[in-house]
Amino acid sequence: MANIVKSACPLNCWDSCGFHVTIENDKVIKVDGDPSHPITKGKICGRGRMLETRTNSPERILYPLKKVNGEFKQISWNQALDEIALQLKEIKERYGSTAVLHSHDYANNGVLKNLDQRFFNAYGGVTELYGSLCWGAGIEAQEWDFGDAYGHEPDDVLNSNNIVIWGRNVARTNMHFYEKLIEAKKKGAKIYVIDPLFNATAKIADEYISVKPGMDGLLAAGIIKKILRLGLEDREFIRHHSFGFEDLEQLVKSISLEKISEMTEVSLEQIHLLAKVFADKPTSTFMGLGLQRYKNGGNTIRLIDSLAAVSGNIGIPGGGANYANLQVGQSFDISNLTLSSRKEKHRQFSIMKQAEEVLSSIDPEIKMIIVTCGNPLTQVPDTSIVEKAFSSVSTLIVVEQFMTDTAQLADYILPTTTSFEEEDVYYSSMYHHYANYGPKLVSAPGEAKSDLWIWTQLAERLGFGADFQFSREQWLEMSLTSLSAKGLTLERIKEEYHLELPVKQVPWNDFKFKTPSGKYEFTALSKGGKGELKLAIPEESKWSNPVLAEKYPYNLLTIHPLRSNHSQNYHLFTKAPQVKIEVARNIADEHHLQDGDFVRVWNDRGEVKGYLSILPKSHSNTINIDEGIWKRFGGSVNNLTSSGESDNGLGSILYDCLVNLEKIT
Ligand code: SF4
Repeated sequence: MANIVKSACPLNCWDSCGFHVTIENDKVIKVDGDPSHPITKGKICGRGRMLETRTNSPERILYPLKKVNGEFKQISWNQALDEIALQLKEIKERYGSTAVLHSHDYANNGVLKNLDQRFFNAYGGVTELYGSLCWGAGIEAQEWDFGDAYGHEPDDVLNSNNIVIWGRNVARTNMHFYEKLIEAKKKGAKIYVIDPLFNATAKIADEYISVKPGMDGLLAAGIIKKILRLGLEDREFIRHHSFGFEDLEQLVKSISLEKISEMTEVSLEQIHLLAKVFADKPTSTFMGLGLQRYKNGGNTIRLIDSLAAVSGNIGIPGGGANYANLQVGQSFDISNLTLSSRKEKHRQFSIMKQAEEVLSSIDPEIKMIIVTCGNPLTQVPDTSIVEKAFSSVSTLIVVEQFMTDTAQLADYILPTTTSFEEEDVYYSSMYHHYANYGPKLVSAPGEAKSDLWIWTQLAERLGFGADFQFSREQWLEMSLTSLSAKGLTLERIKEEYHLELPVKQVPWNDFKFKTPSGKYEFTALSKGGKGELKLAIPEESKWSNPVLAEKYPYNLLTIHPLRSNHSQNYHLFTKAPQVKIEVARNIADEHHLQDGDFVRVWNDRGEVKGYLSILPKSHSNTINIDEGIWKRFGGSVNNLTSSGESDNGLGSILYDCLVNLEKIT
């Protein structure tokens, strides 16, 4: 008989939804929303529903596989684990433990997924990745400005007079916030959307501001300049709670509003309007992740933060420079799981440049790569170099559920469980502050095993099995130590399925910031001479590289797909996906193109082919190709993107990318 049980979405997404999962005969039948979840209230998206297809898919990898003479052969777990453990032992003895690279990402938000770090630390410390392909530049930027990246609780937006959605298509990626926007609008709030793409969120805006890709920081500087010119700044906040305002004042004096309007391609009237909007407090700002995926990404977020600060919208209900909410993740004791004190050696590669770093690594060279929770072949920029690097090492081990582009290259594939086949606690540090419980609901098919089982088995073979002799319940209790002291115990989350975490609902309302000065820092003191704001612009633009812009006149964006969480779902669609190349109207007109035409997009790094779709209202000279498409469906847009790093070193520059386009037959 069918049974409906509560669970949670494991995907790395803003919303962290509660689920109702229908189970029958040890099988997941359907995934729905849990109406009792305080934020997500029974509504979930197609990506979440597709976890049923993911769990039951006949394409699941069910047995350990080893590549022999170019072909995958099924082997036993004992053989796979014995051989991998032996190689790990030999590599450590001959070259040192940092000859192993752990390449990981965030395909699953489970707390216990952090135990991979425990394994690698207990092994002796491997080469790890730093930075983030996704949100790194913005997180670092807010650490410079506020001392941390904190957001307001979801209902606080109902206190806003004005809501500025800056480079974030919440209708696609943050559906429960979209509902809050509708509610706020009904209460009288005005909505402003700033984005190069006229998206579904723009449709509900009172005003849509189309900005040249990558010029968002410059636009913020223009609005600040206008606010100062009109005398609308919050002198009280600036005087008592900030540091370095004079530097910002000098910076905006160094450029005219006319120049800013020309470079951002936003009219002077709209800059004037936005100055008034920010001064009409409280105005909340919600930034997306795409606008910081440029060389100037750190400065972009810092200039938008500065705008919220100058206009006095920090630390007040209905205000905020909302980018992420790291308070959520900080509630857990992840360090209890990771055993970082056991690390004897340590080396870090940038996540963006991991492929180049593998190819040039010396002392020691990378001999083995172990991939968990990720698909670098589609997700890491500059695909051709990634493929070369991941093919170059002696052993590539991929912990996976499906034969992804990365798994195709592997020497060993270790089949892992889906979220419904193991117990965990889930949260997202992006939007709301509830943690959700996901029990084990069904048995894993074939011989698929949890990542934790794999680490435990390898640890035993390598002589540090004692570090993994804990039950799942004990691991979860370890991660909840500080919360338990406040009554938020494992027992409670197992009973209630979601727990409200004790975070600040309106961050910085005491105006005590986590910066060296204790104030909001327009100039980041901890960064010495590098801490001043800059009017930085993208690396690839007609203003910074006119020769390149002549050859490649169009800006390429690579936004999050609607139906897939990054690359995770494309192979599960009922109809095989195709590469869709979305272009602004002027590009279609210049090349005499129509919807459905087959086109090639290229630059010096590579090419992608696909079918044209015209975006009638989007910013001129702008192209979008959704990220994450597998080779077998046409190939990843990262064939075109750069592996460069943002100005503050911690973010990708995936959108800092000029391309050209032509029709092909
Ligand atoms: S992907 Fe996001 S919106 Fe969709 S079900 Fe999961 S958490 Fe909810």
